[in-house]
Amino acid sequence: MKKSKLLVLGLIAALALTGCGSKTKEEPKTTPDTGVTSTGIPNGTYTGEGEGKGGKIKVELTLEDGEIKKIDVLENSETPGFADAMQTITDAMIATNSFDVDSVSGATLTSTGFKTAVENAFKQTGASKDQLVVKEAAGTSNKEEREAAYTSDVVIVGAGGAGLTAAIEAANNGASVILIEKMPMEGGNTLISGGEYAAPGNWLQKEEGIEDSKDQFYEDVLKGGDYENDPKLVRTLADHALESAEWLRDEVNVTFEDYMLFFGGHSVKRSLVPKDASGVELISKLTQKAKEVGVITHLNTTAKELVVENDKVVAVKADFDGKEITYNANNGVVLATGGFGSNLEMRIKYNPEMNEKILSTNSVGSTGDGITMAEKVGAELVDMGYIQTYPTCDPELGTLLYVGDVRMEGRSILVNKEGKRFVEELERRDVISKAVVEQTGGVSYMFWDDASMKASGVNVQHKKEYDYLIENGILVKADTIEEAAAFFDIDAKELKKTIEKYNEYAKNGKDEEFNKRGTLTAFTDAPYYIMKSKPAIHHTMGGIKINTDANVVDTDGNVIKGLFAAGEVTGDIHGTNRLGSDAIADITVFGRIAGRNAAKAAK
Ligand code: ADP
Repeated sequence: MKKSKLLVLGLIAALALTGCGSKTKEEPKTTPDTGVTSTGIPNGTYTGEGEGKGGKIKVELTLEDGEIKKIDVLENSETPGFADAMQTITDAMIATNSFDVDSVSGATLTSTGFKTAVENAFKQTGASKDQLVVKEAAGTSNKEEREAAYTSDVVIVGAGGAGLTAAIEAANNGASVILIEKMPMEGGNTLISGGEYAAPGNWLQKEEGIEDSKDQFYEDVLKGGDYENDPKLVRTLADHALESAEWLRDEVNVTFEDYMLFFGGHSVKRSLVPKDASGVELISKLTQKAKEVGVITHLNTTAKELVVENDKVVAVKADFDGKEITYNANNGVVLATGGFGSNLEMRIKYNPEMNEKILSTNSVGSTGDGITMAEKVGAELVDMGYIQTYPTCDPELGTLLYVGDVRMEGRSILVNKEGKRFVEELERRDVISKAVVEQTGGVSYMFWDDASMKASGVNVQHKKEYDYLIENGILVKADTIEEAAAFFDIDAKELKKTIEKYNEYAKNGKDEEFNKRGTLTAFTDAPYYIMKSKPAIHHTMGGIKINTDANVVDTDGNVIKGLFAAGEVTGDIHGTNRLGSDAIADITVFGRIAGRNAAKAAK
């Protein structure tokens, strides 16, 4: 640290009027030309750190004449949708010249981490928060005005992947569209997913010479769901999956990577990967497209109830900032509110095993609201007990770990504390999850080598997550297998034997123990990696019964007029178990159908 800065700080501490800030780990920083103002707060820029949902958040706070002028985020690993919460809080802090602003609902961890970082930066001044110039709160984002009622041809509830897709297609079919979303940003579970898309017969499969067909995909989806799925819905999904992927690519400008992933339970490698292997690419492009085609989006607006008149759903009642707003729909309402993985009560009601002990990968918005609203107007609910856990999640937070995608490249094995494999690594998620739960400590350890790391590139593509995992002792990188095993107290001798055996299988091209599909690659190159993980709730297969036109069906099998649904809010498409990367195909195919048909529905 420069001496001049120390001098300035000494002066600040001496002049601070009240409650000197507590010590922090941060190195105090001020700009060279600063001085202490009449408020007793020195002008300058200060850095501070906090802990968000994805790890460290580092900010730079600029103060001038006792006022917050600027807050820049220097470092963060928050998912972009959640990162928007930091902007919302920044706006509120600047508008009110105070650090005491509300957290953004649904992004509590990010909000807390960000606020802590800002307050830690402020502590560097040695001044007290009371010394900030008092300002009236004006123009903060929550002051948005709303009418008591709106009318459009189509009202869409939920701005995740399915809702945005439906909104675009409804607008493309001539409808005026209002999309309401309860969170402060678009995205839902789609945003925090890897965004992979199962597309049979796709352009990359052709380049790689992989034979695939709609029929083969149809069969895989049915088999993956233990044939509990509605075959007609699966047929629609299989028949339109590729054309809807092309629609995303060509009409919505989604960029796909030039490689595919092999998801568990599929018979061939067929899953497209959006840019950076992240749902962010999908949501940002869908949001942009929705704006371009004239969709009006109302954020922070929670749908509460469907209004039925003369046997037709004609409106949605919603809450905005404590005020009831009615959204009238001339033609139709589309429910696209996602699943109920974050609603503990509902989870336990339909599947008591999915209790509070099980972590969840889900967005906090996945509370089954659409299912509850639809049920109240007579909709049939199907498969509600089928709740999927994702096998390899953060053992502390439940977050889905994308570094673990090395598995879907066929380049890792799963072992237990005893150093032994216990399941086929490309099995269905439910099968792997069940097997993991039965192992010592209910966890698995994923093992791979340097060549696999390089081939998959997961440490580069998901660098922030990789750093977080290493820093938090969830992933270890070591020069020898023994060293890696010792880190997690895994039986190293057995692990070495397991790897030798696996390398032999790779040489012979056949996994004698678990018959692992795809190409087998031997582990020979140090350094070696081991990642600890456990299953967490990921997808709720059950939901509202729809037909192939995305009409909601009632308990007597009749269509409920004016009501459509698409995405995770619906049931019967995936049966007992959804295969990886089928959800994005599902929300796109059925989102488009719902949007189109709602636009065309009789007034
Ligand atoms: P899908 O994959 O089916 O599109 P997502 O989870 O991606 O599902 O998106 C569902 C969206 O619906 C989320 O953004 C969620 O916040 C939103 N949502 C859930 N309940 C409501 C509600 N009552 N009102 C408005 N939006 C809702």
